[in-house]
Amino acid sequence: MVGELIERHGLEPSRALGQNFLCEPGMVDKIVRLSGVTVGDNVIEIGPGLGSLTLGLADAGANVVAIEADRYLIPGLHEVLEIAQLSDRVRVHHADALEVDWSELVGDRSWKVIANLPYNVSTPLILDLLRDQPSLTDWLVMVQQEAGERLAADSGNRTYGIPSVLLSYWATARVVDTVSNSVFLPRPRVSSALLKVTRHDELPIDAPFDRYAQLVRAGFGKRRKMLRQSLSGLLTSEQMESVGVAPTDRAEALNPAQWGALASIA
Ligand code: SAM
Repeated sequence: MVGELIERHGLEPSRALGQNFLCEPGMVDKIVRLSGVTVGDNVIEIGPGLGSLTLGLADAGANVVAIEADRYLIPGLHEVLEIAQLSDRVRVHHADALEVDWSELVGDRSWKVIANLPYNVSTPLILDLLRDQPSLTDWLVMVQQEAGERLAADSGNRTYGIPSVLLSYWATARVVDTVSNSVFLPRPRVSSALLKVTRHDELPIDAPFDRYAQLVRAGFGKRRKMLRQSLSGLLTSEQMESVGVAPTDRAEALNPAQWGALASIA
């Protein structure tokens, strides 16, 4: 179906836009099932492509807002929705998800984000939208496996780093499945994973995000150095000790709560 659409519409999947389309109905069913989407849910899909997942979401009864950056895909997307008679459940926006006016799209309802994301922008998309759009509460997204593992890592894990600590401020995340590249057309060169992200009901860290992010970036920017060196100019050793953090530790030794404690120092 996807292969036939690509050919008939004369499309050439763009690597720059991360176009690897889902071509395995069983995988679409699995994403819909794992997302827990149900009748009447509001769902944002970033990058609907040619509608493989969009159809599954609309068929499960969701109201879908689908944001697609590539105008050449949109006629094919409308075609599959019309054939399945699901057009009335899907609002298609031709826009770049990194630049679209989100507040106009989401209003004050709460939304699930369910998507096979363009891999080159998945980490900034997730982190920026967690920071800026509180109404996006639950996410199930396909990402590059390495990016998913970084976002979900706990301290002590070898992939723990800036994305893991920044995400922890807003949400929890875990990789719920790894995915064979045979479910995509064309097949990506990298491995994929399904990442579940759940926004905290209440923020566990009582410190401004900008300060938290500043310290985390400085600490991991010089991750081999001790905190007294990597955070010099931002905090003194005495200040670190005042919240129980050893200035001789390195960035990766601190869990998000400890970064929060450092960020809360006035
Ligand atoms: N959901 C479709 C599927 O699973 O078959 C396509 C997924 S494909 C991995 C990523 C999609 O995101 C492509 O359709 C691509 O054109 C679109 N895309 C890439 N960058 C985007 C951006 N910044 N904003 C919105 N869509 C984007």
